[in-house]
Amino acid sequence: MHDYHKRHSDYLKHRGILLVISSPSGAGKTTITRSLLAEEKYVTLSVSATTRPARPKEKPGDHYHFKTEEEFKQLIEEDALFEHAYVFGNWYGTLRAPVEKRLEEGYDVLLDIDWQGAQQMIQEARNYVVSVFLLPPSLSILEERLRSRAEDSETAIKQRMCEAIDEISHWAEYDYVVVNDNLEKSINDVRSILRSERLKRTRQVGLSHFIHHLTEADETLPVDLLPKAQREL
Ligand code: 5GP
Repeated sequence: MHDYHKRHSDYLKHRGILLVISSPSGAGKTTITRSLLAEEKYVTLSVSATTRPARPKEKPGDHYHFKTEEEFKQLIEEDALFEHAYVFGNWYGTLRAPVEKRLEEGYDVLLDIDWQGAQQMIQEARNYVVSVFLLPPSLSILEERLRSRAEDSETAIKQRMCEAIDEISHWAEYDYVVVNDNLEKSINDVRSILRSERLKRTRQVGLSHFIHHLTEADETLPVDLLPKAQREL
């Protein structure tokens, strides 16, 4: 008997997404990722390992897992990292185990990593990765944002600007590009990307099973009204 009450949610699960977001620093990535994490229940952040020293407000395990060079080397040797890269004088890497665990639990995982990491993630897990590149509306706005943070010295700001131009040169390697000229709009853009990607046919696990159930002939329907393909010979 055809069970009309069985719904698509009884069959469907979506395969988790690794949402990779890269941008030059000062383009608004932190604000956008924070807002996404606050608004989307099934999105979680990958906390990277790094050899960079913690900044004053950063808590170990919350912003990063802070490691010595020796410890970081060991992570590489143990194949504990999905990807790793040398960025602005320090090592950074995505830990494999927590990311895989979260995917299995049905979460999408947000990765705030640079272009080198994005490329490695695509090689490692193409079917899971959705990549977004965030651009500032102009370089002068980027510089203004870096200055208003008052985190860096004048030389550091100049260096960050050079690094920004280098990072921006990789924009074409990403699936999506968002120009952050309006924070609210950019947050919505990234959410829309996530929502559309979740609806992709290939990400909806169990779809063929559900369609089979949906189109299964019901015994109570008159046989001669059914399309030919569904009639018994
Ligand atoms: P910050 O030191 O300012 O937190 O980060 C510096 C840069 O390193 C940012 O562009 C950030 O996206 C990148 N980054 C942070 N974690 C990782 C990681 O695990 N892998 C890679 N490849 N880059 C990372």
